[in-house]
Amino acid sequence: MPSATELIAANLAQVRGRIAAAAARAGRSADEVQLVAVTKYVGREEIEALLAAGCRDLGESRPQDLWDKAAALDGRDLRWHLIGHLQRNKVRRTLPYVHLLHSVDSRRLLDELDREAARRGQPPDLLLEVNVSREATKTGLAEAEAENLLASWSFPHLRLRGLMGMATQGSTPDEARREFAHLRSLHAKWRPAAPRPEDFRELSMGMSGDFEAAILEGATIVRVGSALFEGLTP
Ligand SMILES: *Cc1c(COP(=O)(O)O)cnc(C)c1O
Repeated sequence: MPSATELIAANLAQVRGRIAAAAARAGRSADEVQLVAVTKYVGREEIEALLAAGCRDLGESRPQDLWDKAAALDGRDLRWHLIGHLQRNKVRRTLPYVHLLHSVDSRRLLDELDREAARRGQPPDLLLEVNVSREATKTGLAEAEAENLLASWSFPHLRLRGLMGMATQGSTPDEARREFAHLRSLHAKWRPAAPRPEDFRELSMGMSGDFEAAILEGATIVRVGSALFEGLTP
């Protein structure tokens, strides 16, 4: 039986191969697609295996878990991405750890982030999470809300890098692809209105079940978790 480390290295190689193949199909270079390895299901040992296999960008969906893992891996060559909801009372503790916030979903959160960023004197990079799924309950800004935020942007200490979205859970690849295409069209439409259009480059979309569809529609960041840990015994 392969060790957990070998299994994770093999899974990572397979995911990277699939990213490259999807990029090639889309006529894009694989370097244009950044892989964020989502570590929310695993602990220190599996993260060490990812790092050993050359993964540098790690994602967590709960701030508390991100703090704990970041502290445990302090000093290592890696970058943390927060991909889940951030509560306003956790902004101060979270910002020092995070390379990119993927899931900014309200004006109140932006206000708090801007205040804290001014205090720190460092502009955090962030994405607006937009709800492009067919479900009413999903997280993220409604399109109209996101559009309003851009039109009245008043957060001088934040660096807006683009958009993030998720396809409806249980979608077929074709359905997911249509939702990703829609997010891509919003990104293109809104870019001229972004605070700095040249910074507004990123499209974070695609998970284990649909990252190829997302790459075909222009994803610059994919967030992949379970595909990296397939075959591990819990
Ligand atoms: C968990 C999670 C992922 C990764 O999901 P997998 O299906 O395990 O690849 C990606 N994005 C977000 C926002 C998540 O919460």
